[in-house]
Amino acid sequence: MLTKTGKECWEEFVQTVEDCCSATEFQNWIAPIKALHHEGAEVHLEVPNIFVQEYLLENFKEHLANFLPTKPSGDLAVNFSVAAPKKKAAPKSQPALIDDEKSNPLFNPQYTFENFIEGPSNQFVKSATLGIATRPGKSYNPLFIHGGVGLGKTHLLHAIGHYVKSHHKRLKVHCITTESFINELVHHLRNKSTEKMKRFYRGLDVLLVDDIQFLQSRLNFEEEFCNMFEALINQNKQIVITSDKPPGELKLSERMVARMEWGLVANIGIPDLETRVAILQDKAEKKGVKIPQRVAFFIAERIFNNVRQLEGALNKLAAYSKMMSLDVTEEIVESTLSELFQKAPNKRVSVDNILKSVAVMFGVKVSDICGSSRAKSVAFPRQVAMYLAKEMINDSLIKLAASFGGKTHSTLLHAWKKISQQIGQDEMLRRQIQMARRNLET
Ligand code: ADP
Ligand code: MG
Repeated sequence: MLTKTGKECWEEFVQTVEDCCSATEFQNWIAPIKALHHEGAEVHLEVPNIFVQEYLLENFKEHLANFLPTKPSGDLAVNFSVAAPKKKAAPKSQPALIDDEKSNPLFNPQYTFENFIEGPSNQFVKSATLGIATRPGKSYNPLFIHGGVGLGKTHLLHAIGHYVKSHHKRLKVHCITTESFINELVHHLRNKSTEKMKRFYRGLDVLLVDDIQFLQSRLNFEEEFCNMFEALINQNKQIVITSDKPPGELKLSERMVARMEWGLVANIGIPDLETRVAILQDKAEKKGVKIPQRVAFFIAERIFNNVRQLEGALNKLAAYSKMMSLDVTEEIVESTLSELFQKAPNKRVSVDNILKSVAVMFGVKVSDICGSSRAKSVAFPRQVAMYLAKEMINDSLIKLAASFGGKTHSTLLHAWKKISQQIGQDEMLRRQIQMARRNLET
């Protein structure tokens, strides 16, 4: 029987992995690894540095186990050696260098404050970012923005960048994704030029860091990042960080979490129906596509938790209607976009369930929530319950409001707006509501 050599096993692994990771990830972490010719069943890999080895073992554990031989103990039969430093690194696999970016900061030209549509779910973050852009280093520092995918975190980060560049021409502003920060660091470690990198970062006035969640479980880099972070904050330099989770839920050291909670933590939420319609119409207008109001509502009712998907839908629709020279109607939307439509939220949730759950949460009686007392101890739980009802139940506001002991739809709307805004500023409340939602959905 012909058994594969270690090198062949490695090559099969590389082919599979190339298909399932991003081009940047592949270029930076997999392509630099070389399988050496080796007698016997073991795989001998040459890595440019220890970080590449760590990255491989941490992130591709399962794939490795599927492709590479194992020892009787169950451990992978792999040997690593670190390559002797080369004079010149291959130009293609180099991460973007800070020097290139210095002269050409990579801000998406569309991501400006003017192009950002406001609604109750993002008003607070929008004003916090605008405040920072106007007076960098003089208000909250750092600003930590968290929220789900496609809700405008990167957009606002770049908006700060644009604003600072045009209004404070002397300030040095730099935006970086956490992934490229790590790549840069690896590059400088490899070339023994970390001092140069430190100098560059410490000379900045505004540092914008996107997607800090990628720093999780990367201890070596975390410490480096934390040092740089402290050096900047101590000099009153502005830092803004985005993340898909609040600081406390990130798997980072206590020191790092504490630093990120130093300033202001703000949540960016899912935009409500009216805001989604406004976003759609604004983007459609910029693309020169006409979408009747009715059709915009039709789309926004069906794509509700991610602005990026809303944009994707619009692009698809625009391409289709241009190609076919057709006006945009509900029928066309239905036939071109139906696979993008999301399922309506859980139908089983009822106002009754919400009332019971909120009553327990705040230690009040359901009859009090449905009553007319304006005492804060009852009025606040009532507003929370109304917020949850509007968020979780697909029914008319009039009907929902009536289930609260015959309140009006404007009372419900007011409660919903108030709580939506408060969630952006109050981490405790956000968590409480998230928990209530989870309990109700299961
Ligand atoms: P995130 O970084 O939170 O995943 P992005 O900032 O990349 O999301 O936003 C996804 C897309 O949605 C971008 O094209 C952005 O311009 C758009 N977008 C998100 N929120 C808004 C908004 N409030 N107004 C206009 N466009 C928005
Ligand atoms: Mg983003």
